[in-house]
Amino acid sequence: MPAKLLDGNLLSRQIRTEIATASAILSAKGTKPGLAVILIGENPASEIYVRNKVKACEEANIRSRLIRLPATISESDLLDHIHALNTNPDIHGILVQLPLPAQIDSFKVIESIDPMKDVDGFHVANAGALMTGKPLFKPCTPYGCMKLLESIDYPIRGARAVIVGASNIVGKPMAMLLLQAGATITICNSKTKDIGAHTREADILVVATGIPKMITANMVKPGAVVIDVGINRLADGKLCGDVDFDEVKYVAGWISPVPGGVGPMTITMLLQNTLEAANHFHQ
Ligand code: NDP
Repeated sequence: MPAKLLDGNLLSRQIRTEIATASAILSAKGTKPGLAVILIGENPASEIYVRNKVKACEEANIRSRLIRLPATISESDLLDHIHALNTNPDIHGILVQLPLPAQIDSFKVIESIDPMKDVDGFHVANAGALMTGKPLFKPCTPYGCMKLLESIDYPIRGARAVIVGASNIVGKPMAMLLLQAGATITICNSKTKDIGAHTREADILVVATGIPKMITANMVKPGAVVIDVGINRLADGKLCGDVDFDEVKYVAGWISPVPGGVGPMTITMLLQNTLEAANHFHQ
């Protein structure tokens, strides 16, 4: 029997309705949640992500401000924009769409965002808070994966979780959230030997490498929960994940599709973090 679907579109609709209601209530009290999105240059993928984020804000009663800057902008000019947003009382969340042009140091840019407005959760202060189990903002993609797991009431406590991919924005924070929820974790990276030996042990398998369909059916434990973070565009223009969905769905117990799994959840948790930032500001 094929795996059950971890439907990120469906769960997103439910959570976004709750966020829209909470935003409207907060607005009525005098604080309308506001998100600033900085988009630099003309990367087509970034354009799509940013368009989706702005539209999602509108639907959730969140004010969005899109700041488009040229690819030639200097680092100091970009930092000036961020400093202005840090002190703007109408803006509660600041997101700089990555990747950035080569002349700009991404680390410096992320560190310039006020941690209280760092709704991506990438600032070292927020990464450190997450590490110690007291996160202010959870990074949106792993936060969305946790919501998908919670939606099926999966017993995370005591489960074996394997995360394939160890980036600062997905793999590492995912590992921390699963660890804090009581899972026993293994994190794999590009140097890991015999990845399949690890993934076959996983009750919960989260994959975020950017390698299309790298996880095949023989790498998955029967009945496992498989969360596919990858978004890859194939030569025919279609999107696919890092998991071979058509094969793995016959082995896994639960599986998230691409598109329609983690992608919409990432945007939903960005809205959630912006609402939380506005709540902190209001108090
Ligand atoms: P990065 O390129 O920053 O990191 C990739 C990670 O995968 C690295 O830790 C790398 O290891 C590891 N890796 C690469 N090859 C292998 C391999 N053969 N075996 C095991 N591990 C490997 O990617 P991101 O984390 O930013 O993104 C990963 C994927 O998730 C991409 O497809 C991206 O588009 C997607 N994504 C989707 C989001 C969503 O909302 N759905 C949000 C963010 C990302 P090493 O550390 O050794 O280099």
